[in-house]
Amino acid sequence: MTQTRIPPQSLPTRAHAVVIDGITRTYKSRAGTVDALRGVTHAFAPQTFTAIMGPSGSGKSTLLQCAAGLDRPTRGRVAIGGIDLAGLSEVRLTELRRESMGFVFQAYNLLPALTAYDNVALPLKLAGHRPTRAQVMGALARVGLQDHHRRRPPELSGGQQQRVSIARALVTRPEVVFADEPTGALDRTTGRQVLELMRATVERDGLTVVMVTHDPVAASYADSVLFLEDGRLVGDLARADAAQIAAAMSELER
Ligand code: ADP
Ligand code: MG
Repeated sequence: MTQTRIPPQSLPTRAHAVVIDGITRTYKSRAGTVDALRGVTHAFAPQTFTAIMGPSGSGKSTLLQCAAGLDRPTRGRVAIGGIDLAGLSEVRLTELRRESMGFVFQAYNLLPALTAYDNVALPLKLAGHRPTRAQVMGALARVGLQDHHRRRPPELSGGQQQRVSIARALVTRPEVVFADEPTGALDRTTGRQVLELMRATVERDGLTVVMVTHDPVAASYADSVLFLEDGRLVGDLARADAAQIAAAMSELER
């Protein structure tokens, strides 16, 4: 594995979809202090698919949360599309998230009482827009679920629910999609469909995808894989297959 090197002069520009620059995240509680991230720097190029891997507790979710502005790092900077998140109020940060970012979670996080249509329309409504039928049905068609728009999440399979959540992430036409273990609850075949959709959002829609996963097969769909250990970036692989990624992972877990 090679060490990740970032030319410092390239950090604050729009040339990168997401930049994390020396971020640390320390959790303090009565039980003690946990350094979840210890100085992580990386620039995510536009229209790339990056997987983040590492042992359990290595800081993957914390990294994703900080990169997406859902959590603020203790030290260091995060920029999305050239905008430094530290300078934003909570209101502006929320607006930026709604305009520029999409989220996909392992547990889908759909609202069970709403139809697939209304779940997908929600981010547009929250952003203050009046969703058109073409926008919502277009996003559902993008994931092959236009015929299921009246169904509620309990009436859909896990894979279909995750595809609805991808439609929900895409409907605002974000620049970046953050996904935390999006295939973690799916069987292999369904998981593969979801990964192929994520790959297509990069190739066809020009999005930037940042995905946390512990599955080497899932990570092999990405252009590059970053490896975290104990809150530090310890390596990366580009265009690697599942076997190479699995070998790198077992090296870390030794
Ligand atoms: P991963 O996603 O790689 O499993 P996390 O980012 O969830 O790792 O967690 C990294 C470390 O930070 C772990 O030691 C975890 O216990 C700790 N941690 C995560 N969130 C919190 C929190 N809200 N409060 C205290 N410690 C936390
Ligand atoms: Mg996690």
